[in-house]
Amino acid sequence: MAQHQFQTEVSRLLHLIIHSLYSNREIFLRELVSNASDALDKLKYLTVADEAYKSLNFDPRIDISFDKERKTLTIADNGIGMNEADLIDSLGTIARSGTKAFLEKLAEDAKKESNLIGQFGVGFYSAFMVADKIEVISRKAAEDATCKWSSDGKEGFEIERLAEGDSASRSSQGTTVILNLTEEGTEYTNRWSIEDIIKRYSNHVAFPIYLTYDEKEWDDKGNEKGSVTKTDRINSGTALWRRSKNELKEEDYNEFYKQLGHDSENPLHYIHTKAEGTLEYSTLFYIPKKAPFDLYNVDYKPGVKLYVKRVFITDDDKELMPTYLRFVRGVIDSEDLPLNVSREILQQNKILLNIKNASVKKLLSEFKQMADNAVSGGDEPKEKWETFIGQFNRPLKEGLYQDFANREAIQELVRFKSTTVDGWTSFAEYASRMKSEQKHIYYITGGDENTLRSSPLLEAYRAKEIEVLIMDDDIDDIIIPTLHSYRKEIPGADGKSEAQTWELKAVNRSGADEELGEAKDKDAEKEAKPVIEKIKKALGDRVKDVKLSRRLHDSPSCIVADENDPSIQMAQMLKAMGQTTMQEAKPILEVNGEHPLVLSLKEIDDEERIADVSGVLLDQALLVEGLKLKDPSDFVKRLNRLLVK
Ligand code: ADP
Repeated sequence: MAQHQFQTEVSRLLHLIIHSLYSNREIFLRELVSNASDALDKLKYLTVADEAYKSLNFDPRIDISFDKERKTLTIADNGIGMNEADLIDSLGTIARSGTKAFLEKLAEDAKKESNLIGQFGVGFYSAFMVADKIEVISRKAAEDATCKWSSDGKEGFEIERLAEGDSASRSSQGTTVILNLTEEGTEYTNRWSIEDIIKRYSNHVAFPIYLTYDEKEWDDKGNEKGSVTKTDRINSGTALWRRSKNELKEEDYNEFYKQLGHDSENPLHYIHTKAEGTLEYSTLFYIPKKAPFDLYNVDYKPGVKLYVKRVFITDDDKELMPTYLRFVRGVIDSEDLPLNVSREILQQNKILLNIKNASVKKLLSEFKQMADNAVSGGDEPKEKWETFIGQFNRPLKEGLYQDFANREAIQELVRFKSTTVDGWTSFAEYASRMKSEQKHIYYITGGDENTLRSSPLLEAYRAKEIEVLIMDDDIDDIIIPTLHSYRKEIPGADGKSEAQTWELKAVNRSGADEELGEAKDKDAEKEAKPVIEKIKKALGDRVKDVKLSRRLHDSPSCIVADENDPSIQMAQMLKAMGQTTMQEAKPILEVNGEHPLVLSLKEIDDEERIADVSGVLLDQALLVEGLKLKDPSDFVKRLNRLLVK
């Protein structure tokens, strides 16, 4: 038997692990199963790639068993195995250079250590959190000797070659890890806790994991009559996302989705990607048919799970997807992250960030494809896209201000209602319908669809056949003004593309009426001036200004917000939400110079009458915009006085 000292880094690492991961000690089982799975992967590869191993009778499996009396837990695999030199190298030193460099850099500060530990794999040594002695009995594939490594995890380890007939010796290749559990570690000599941990962390490990346990038997009278030993498979082993696409049928994807997304319906769409190269990972994303019930809750449950080498890491990390894509369900499985990657580190992890960015781009381009198919592909793709937009248009709009890098792509996806076409339309479609002389893209916000459609603000646009987008989502008012413009690449004949940009103009703001021109003529303005002055005087500080309108045809008046003020609706909403510090934004009243009610003011000098007409002009403009009047009884009194006369 040979005695060996641990490399100093190993002692250091052991100390670190025990102190910083103890509260989460069940992960030791995940680490050991993952090692076993790696060993099986390695041998599996050899049986395919190397002549010398091709004849091997290889039925890969992982076996877990425990002994309550002796307080042991055993994890065995029939994978590649280790010989004496491997055992010394792998379990006595820290082979991975990254870990070594990391340990060298570590400050003495214990708190810092516990945060940093999530950056690298803790692996095998984590088992010392639950065991005071570990034995590793291993036989390397294509070799005859079995060796035993044992250690108490303190100073060093011993290595011993087992004699041929030794009962502990392995008859075939593979590794058996025997944990002599500490008093606290005995919580794992229990069928249910092992099953629970395996299902949670290692359910998708590709090889079967079996658990052997004793089950008591009872006679007819309910007396214990002995026990039988049973072996059950405890993982499902379906790492669907790791399989190749052409192996899988739509049903496979659908089945997996139902289990993953806890949905009884099939998904609307799925996207399966395997990346190989500098970064190796698989992703499988699903778009549900219906928005998750908690889509608009602040504490929504994230839908994407993170795996590292098929081992489950977390399903509770909102950072895996940008919030505007929180309806996406699925799996990210990285080959490059350490198993032990911690939450704090995840968020700044470069590898994960790259995977996330690539995934977002992929998702957005799939959505675009879905939209394009809807135009060219017939009823089914059209229905699919409409379902998608019906459910997820709103969260996508959030992306317009959350994800600046992908804003142009998102602008192509979001949809709006319009004054000239039924159903949904896009900025691009709007632009393609525009008359060549039209300069801007017009929209109206601040109310439900019906209110917006009947707004007097739209009259002149309708008369001039200018399309206006109806934006009735509550966030449109906040998001669309931040866009400022829509930019589109237009492919030219010579292969070069040209970009054209249109400003987005809200029709309920001053400054959006320049294209409506006609009332611009100086005579009309001059003629209306005395009337405008009368109204302005009568309304005083209830309005910011009174102007002759270019946008009204039938209605006598309308209100608009000054170009840089929040809209009146938004101001009311913010106030209702308790936002009181904001200065009250006053509306601009625009009046229709040809309307009889306005014209009637020309001849009148009676101040009360002027005040009544002006008050009614303002209040009715507020009412048609769906706004509340500050003093409804005042409005009613004035209206009645006018009616009587
Ligand atoms: P990691 O798995 O991250 O490399 P570990 O400390 O868990 O780190 O394991 C160190 C090394 O020991 C592994 O890289 C592998 O070479 C070897 N090893 C551990 N468990 C087994 C096993 N069951 N079969 C074969 N080799 C193993």
